[in-house]
Amino acid sequence: MKELQSYLGGAWVSGNGSAKEVVNPSTGETLATLRNAGTLAEAVSYARTVGGKNLRAMTLPQRGEMLKALAKLLHEHREELLDLSVVSGGNTRGDAKFDVDGATGVLGAYAYLAKSLGDGPWISVSEPVEIMRGSKIKAQDVLVPRQGVAFHINAFNFPAWGMVGKLAVALLAGMPVVSKPGTSTVALAARIGEIIVDSKLLPEGAFSLLVGSAGDLLDQVRGQDVIAFTGSADTGLRIRSHEVVMRSGARVNVEADSLNSVIVGPDVEPGSELFDLVVRDCVTELTQKAGQKCTATRRILVPQSALESVREALLERLGDIAGRTGDPKQEGMRMGPLSTRSQLDDARKGIAALETNARRILGDPERTDFGGAEGYFLEPVLFEATAEAAKDPSSQFHQREVFGPVATLLPYDGTVETAAAIIAAGEGSLVSTLYTDDRGFAATAVAEMAPHLGRLVVASEKSAAASISPGCVFPVVVHGGPGRAGGGAELGGVTGLALYMQRTTIQGGGSQLARML
Ligand code: NAP
Repeated sequence: MKELQSYLGGAWVSGNGSAKEVVNPSTGETLATLRNAGTLAEAVSYARTVGGKNLRAMTLPQRGEMLKALAKLLHEHREELLDLSVVSGGNTRGDAKFDVDGATGVLGAYAYLAKSLGDGPWISVSEPVEIMRGSKIKAQDVLVPRQGVAFHINAFNFPAWGMVGKLAVALLAGMPVVSKPGTSTVALAARIGEIIVDSKLLPEGAFSLLVGSAGDLLDQVRGQDVIAFTGSADTGLRIRSHEVVMRSGARVNVEADSLNSVIVGPDVEPGSELFDLVVRDCVTELTQKAGQKCTATRRILVPQSALESVREALLERLGDIAGRTGDPKQEGMRMGPLSTRSQLDDARKGIAALETNARRILGDPERTDFGGAEGYFLEPVLFEATAEAAKDPSSQFHQREVFGPVATLLPYDGTVETAAAIIAAGEGSLVSTLYTDDRGFAATAVAEMAPHLGRLVVASEKSAAASISPGCVFPVVVHGGPGRAGGGAELGGVTGLALYMQRTTIQGGGSQLARML
């Protein structure tokens, strides 16, 4: 049995204490074991000093070339990584591609971005401005790499994209990374770590990998460090309120829970291409990665007049997937299991909570027969609320993210005001999607809904054919959201880099500034 190791202080190390098992969630079979690492003080200090110095000695184009080489490397291992993603994450092959190709995609996108950032080790991000009208003294902002460590603490659901996506951005910015993947699916992240380390493409100290629990990681945080956390709001709160983290003043970015929505506009007619897109996107977002996506749709707002058609279409499509939920290695399976027994237990508890304010119209959360597979399966579950419950912010579907293939239909009166109030009841989301050709509705939606969202996707009949399911996060687009979603911002081109860099104003004589910057 393989024991997964951490890569700390420039060496592979086994942990100590009792061994934990990493299992295939479709079968319960043990894939590997791991032990928690001991104190991380030396490893973090090594990354901070050696890795930071090495990366800052490189120019942005050199760091970009490094990302390009990493993208090529991962692509060469693609088949192996997809296979591992299927057995270690319960992913269908399509789900596995979403994660693995997403990782390569972020590397490629940031390698490309590097070409537009100048030839130096830092970035000028503004034009020089006179500090007072007529003054020869000017001011200009630069982004310089922070001289600390980037701590990447990731959720279990995207072991490849989560780890590599954050890594790409921090490395291009010039910060060394200590990456701590979610434990239940760490086998894939650990293998990617092995591939990266073996390639020797990164300078010494630029990348460390911690398998198992975080241990005393947060005790090592210092003021120049960055913590980029993705996971539940509860863990996010624990990290934010950790005494060492608070005292240090380190930058903390939190990507947490989210109650994403779909808003079907009052003009969407059954039979139209836009209607079909609504149904296709809802089904994708409910079932891709068995609904274990931070961007998955949880609330589906439908005008009363279209409720019956949307309901019927979803019941048919999701019912079909219920019949094809099982071990993704078996032919014809469309949806795999949840990641662990405790995720399944949590999802069942969440479903029971949703029952207080909505009626379950599809799915049996207690179903155990999935073609003989023994894993942590949950068939798609669809709820429907009344229009009254939909407007009540205390309803559970506005409070609780059930991390599985679970969503609720929320009828509304077709006005943008009611839809916006329902969106706001989620107290902050990563993404929501509006389907409409009504320009007035869309414009008001931007003003009323956008403050509650990290991203608002607007789909129309004209753009329907080119539309991509809203849960897909592109590296040029900011990923994050206000309130419940954590208040963070990752990716988004230079916005993502800014997380790992200090924005400093350089103020001085105009010609001096022009020579320096
Ligand atoms: P989680 O339980 O909060 O764990 C996230 C990460 O934090 C894991 O690596 C975990 O390690 C680590 N961790 C746990 N306790 C910690 C502590 N005290 N100090 C430092 N690290 C600690 O979340 P999860 O179950 O993996 O992921 C599901 C949640 O993530 C969902 O709520 C989902 O919405 C959210 N999510 C959000 C986004 C986004 O971009 N907004 C993306 C994906 C997922 P162990 O695994 O070793 O416990």
